[in-house]
Amino acid sequence: MTAVGAASAAYIVAGLLFILSLAGLSRHETAKAGNAFGMAGMAIALAATIGLASRSISGAGIALLAVAVVIGAVIGLWRARRVEMTGMPELIAILHSFVGLAAVLVGWNGYLSVEADLEGQTEVASDLIGIHSAEVVIGVFIGAVTFTGSIVAFLKLSGRIRSNPLMLPGHNALNLGALVAFAVLTVVFVIEPNIVLLAVVTAVALALGWHLVASIGGGDMPVVVSMLNSYSGWAAAASGFLLGNDLLIITGALVGSSGAYLSYIMCRAMNRSFISVIAGGFGNEGAAAVDKDYGEHTEIDAEGVAELLQDADSVIITPGYGMAVAQAQSAVAELTRHLRDRGVDVRFGIHPVAGRLPGHMNVLLAEAKVPYDVVLEMDEINDDFPDTSVVLVIGANDTVNPAATDDPSSPIAGMPVLKVWEAQQVVVFKRSMNTGYAGVQNPLFFRDNSRMLFGDARERVEDILRAL
Ligand code: NDP
Repeated sequence: MTAVGAASAAYIVAGLLFILSLAGLSRHETAKAGNAFGMAGMAIALAATIGLASRSISGAGIALLAVAVVIGAVIGLWRARRVEMTGMPELIAILHSFVGLAAVLVGWNGYLSVEADLEGQTEVASDLIGIHSAEVVIGVFIGAVTFTGSIVAFLKLSGRIRSNPLMLPGHNALNLGALVAFAVLTVVFVIEPNIVLLAVVTAVALALGWHLVASIGGGDMPVVVSMLNSYSGWAAAASGFLLGNDLLIITGALVGSSGAYLSYIMCRAMNRSFISVIAGGFGNEGAAAVDKDYGEHTEIDAEGVAELLQDADSVIITPGYGMAVAQAQSAVAELTRHLRDRGVDVRFGIHPVAGRLPGHMNVLLAEAKVPYDVVLEMDEINDDFPDTSVVLVIGANDTVNPAATDDPSSPIAGMPVLKVWEAQQVVVFKRSMNTGYAGVQNPLFFRDNSRMLFGDARERVEDILRAL
């Protein structure tokens, strides 16, 4: 078998492993196997690509490649070992930015080695130059949008900049203008490729990526993360066309389409228009959090909560981002076991965007060995709150905010939420009266049947266990 044939065979095996990986990742029982398939696929892909490249590059080039792979692997392993679960979304966002940057560099390299050097060029037949130019400009555009968009997402998710939407006057016209400019510049570039045009396209795309994600705020960030995941896939696929690498095209398309589908599912779960979110908050005219007087909140201590739980027949726990910050999942699992042993019906209600990444709460609860059958999705449990004695809201805020259903002027209006306030008694575990990710005050805290239990969620759950 020739080297090219062997590489193609390896690419097919790697492509199949990536599909198996995605299938495995769709359920938590098979997620570990899914990861293993993905790693095996990537190892085969790297080996085949390096093997193929080694035929046409010098020994020094191979050495350089090996050094780059080793440096990348060391940094990757170091970051992956250190990252906390709560830091995963921002790590993912910054990794997407690398894919975007790589696509920009591949595009520029494609231009410099083909269009900029037409006389000395043997790689692309002259009648295919137009197609090559289109690949260059599209790859650079998608890559640059992904690059700056992911950097803004990283800054927002890590709290380095505020998550509120940036509302420039005429923001929709700006986005549309950038798209029209891109279309026109692409046509001109294909007819007459030149470096100034490519630089202008790059600048327009960098600005568009920044503006698109800066305009999305509040509770819509989960969709942005999966949308950037999708963009990074399309950027990789565009690079695949440019480099003539089939595996990159397959992998890019897999990431691009699965990311787009995930964004669609999340939009549906959050009652948001998919088009509005991918168009940078189109239709969101910047509803801002208004300071209202909701009255007084009532505090409770751990002993008080223990008494409530002793008298309860049924308990629903709705965890959120604060449970992850406090690493309270083991204590919560222990409390669950204890109450179930006493004959109390304990279940969990999981909001689709609770935490900071899809499935965040499910992962934590699985890690703490909470039985799957008591962990229910929001839709499965939302009608059961009126028949529930006590709800424990552990570090959740936006996902249990009644303003989403009651207040059309709220920035999170229309987002489905867990209707915890319909239970007889609600206990909210948090450290202060601060808002959640969306920056919106929560009227739940001031309701007559709500009690605030202040402090670190893990310490408070352990206090309750001691009191019980
Ligand atoms: P929120 O971010 O709305 O609220 C979390 C709450 O936890 C805060 O109010 C905070 O209050 C409390 N908290 C933080 N640390 C602790 C601690 N150690 N002990 C006790 N409480 C603590 O969380 P939700 O899960 O309800 O909502 C998720 C939000 O994140 C949504 O707006 C969603 O759109 C967004 N998002 C979700 C993503 C996803 O994919 N799931 C991705 C990106 C964003 P205090 O500071 O007072 O303690």
